[in-house]
Order: sequence, then structure tokens, then C-alpha cells
Amino acid sequence: MTEARIIDGKAFAAGLRARIGGEVAELRERHGLVPGLAVVLVGEDPASQVYVRNKGRATLEAGMRSFEHRLEAGTDQATLLALIDRLNRDPEVHGILVQLPLPSGIDPSAVIRAIDPAKDVDGFHPVNAGLLAQGLPGLVPCTPLGCLMLLRDALGDLAGLRALVLGRSTIVGRPMAQLLLGADCTVTLAHSRTRDLPEECRRADILVAAVGRPEMVRGDWIRPGATVIDVGINRVPAAEPGKTRLVGDVRFDEAAAVAGAITPVPGGVGPMTIACLLHNTVLAARASHGLHRFGRD
Ligand code: NDP
Repeated sequence: MTEARIIDGKAFAAGLRARIGGEVAELRERHGLVPGLAVVLVGEDPASQVYVRNKGRATLEAGMRSFEHRLEAGTDQATLLALIDRLNRDPEVHGILVQLPLPSGIDPSAVIRAIDPAKDVDGFHPVNAGLLAQGLPGLVPCTPLGCLMLLRDALGDLAGLRALVLGRSTIVGRPMAQLLLGADCTVTLAHSRTRDLPEECRRADILVAAVGRPEMVRGDWIRPGATVIDVGINRVPAAEPGKTRLVGDVRFDEAAAVAGAITPVPGGVGPMTIACLLHNTVLAARASHGLHRFGRD
């Protein structure tokens, strides 16, 4: 039986995108500024193609400019770096996103470092990671930023709450932990070497699962009344032969019977990622016109 309140990320993201659309219209009217996002895709990975298409569509729907650069799978690193250099210098481009994963032979960290930190709307550049670690304003990775927005909406002030982040990737887990620390939570960052993970999880008022293991977090890992944010997106076989379905990193039915609030998969964190990408692009565009300041400025 589901008891937890369902945190509707889809509805929240739709509202955020509408607000961003309004902000973009105002920037255009008052400052003649049209935020522009360049998305670079190397190769033909089917999932990446869908993500890139969705990002382009959402960018246009918000009234921004979208620049898509599709490079063939055999593209070498120097060619990709030359494109990034061009985009760094293009005044119409305020945000640059290179879709990951990149084909083997291209070093993703070299590519991320080549992006101008002021245009790094994914928030993966070491300068932005450093600003976040120091609690200074910068461009913050989209998925954890979306999780924080959902948490603030569900709980209001997060100060003093015990938060456990499961997973320490630079894309989700680490920046999530930094954001929760910035919100004055008491933060535990758990990973594959954590001892007695279920017990660590049971202490948490907020549990963010970003581990990439289908339904790993069970109901009895969750403190009654806790807020559960499930970042995981895992495709698993469905009951019907030959079909698949999406599940998170949390066993939803079990968790929903114990938690106070929980995000579903799909329809929870997923839609927030693109909305936050648009949010970051607007921030980058505003900063380029002196309408916003980052910690490095
Ligand atoms: P990574 O694979 O980069 O990181 C997984 C983390 O989980 C690592 O820190 C790893 O620990 C830890 N881990 C793995 N197995 C265990 C285990 N058995 N016990 C404890 N910890 C474990 O994944 P990402 O952070 O990129 O993604 C996590 C999930 O979020 C995936 O399902 C991904 O699809 C999803 N995702 C969703 C997004 C969205 O838009 N909603 C965006 C990005 C990701 P260690 O460091 O010790 O190896």
C-alpha cells in the first residue's frame, strides 16, 4: 500500500520551464538578449540521440536559441576541441553541453576542461566543481540541482536534517552532497565501500539514491517518514516477454509504504534535469551581460 506523498517532478519541471520561458521573454524584451545553448553529440548512441533531441526541443520551447552539432563516431579529440574553442568564442552561445558518454579515444575530462567555465551549463568543469565545494555561486550540475529544488519544495528549510547520498559520482553524488551541505544538512556520502549501508540509510531524514543498481534500496533501509529522492534510471526486463520497463535505484512499492515522500521513476528526478539545464543556460546568459555574478567573477 502506498502511503508516502508522491513528489511529482514532472509537474514541478513543467512549472519551472514555464517560469524560465517568462524570464527568457523578459531578457529578450528588456536587454535584447536571447540565451543560446549548444549541444554537441559525437557518435550515434541511440539514448544520447534521444537526450540531445529532447534538450534541443526544450530549449526552443523556452524561447532560446538551440545549436546542435552532430559529429560522426570516428571524430578525433582535436576536432572536438576545435569545435569547443569556436563555441567558447561565439557570443550567441551562452551554454555548451557535450553529451556523454564520448566514444573511446576521446578523453572526457580533457573535453570538459576545454569548455569555458562561464558556459559550462552541465557544471562539470573543475572551476565550477571548486566553486560548489567552496559554497560559492557557480554553475551547478543539473540533476543534483533538480533534486535540491524538489527537496526544498517538499520540505522547505532543510537545515539540520540528516541526509544520506548514495553514490559519489562527479555528475550526481558528490555535487548532491555539496548542495545538501550548503543547505545546512548533516551529510553522509555513501559508496560501494560503505560498511553496513542499510543501517547508514536508516539514519537519514533525506535519502538520495544515485547508485545505478535497479531497486537496490529496500523498504527496510528507510527511516519511517523520510524523504526519498530516487535518481536511478535503470531499464530492466518487464513481465511481458521481450518488453522492458524503467525502475529506479529504490524498490518503490516497499519504500512508498515507509517513506513520508518519494519521487517515482519515471516522472520524478528525470524531468528536472532538462529544466535545470535551461535554468543554467539562462544564468550563463545573464552573467554574460553582467546581470548575474558567479563566485569567480
Ligand atoms: P556512477 O556509476 O557514476 O556512480 C555510481 C555510484 O554508486 C558510485 O559512487 C559507486 O561507488 C556507487 N555504488 C555502486 N554500486 C554500489 C553498491 N553496491 N553499494 C553502494 N554504492 C554503490 O553513476 P551516476 O552517478 O552517473 O548515476 C547513478 C544513477 O543515476 C544511474 O542509474 C543513472 O542512470 C542515474 N542518472 C539519472 C539522471 C537523471 O536525469 N535522472 C542523470 C544522471 C544519472 P564507488 O564510487 O565506490 O564505485
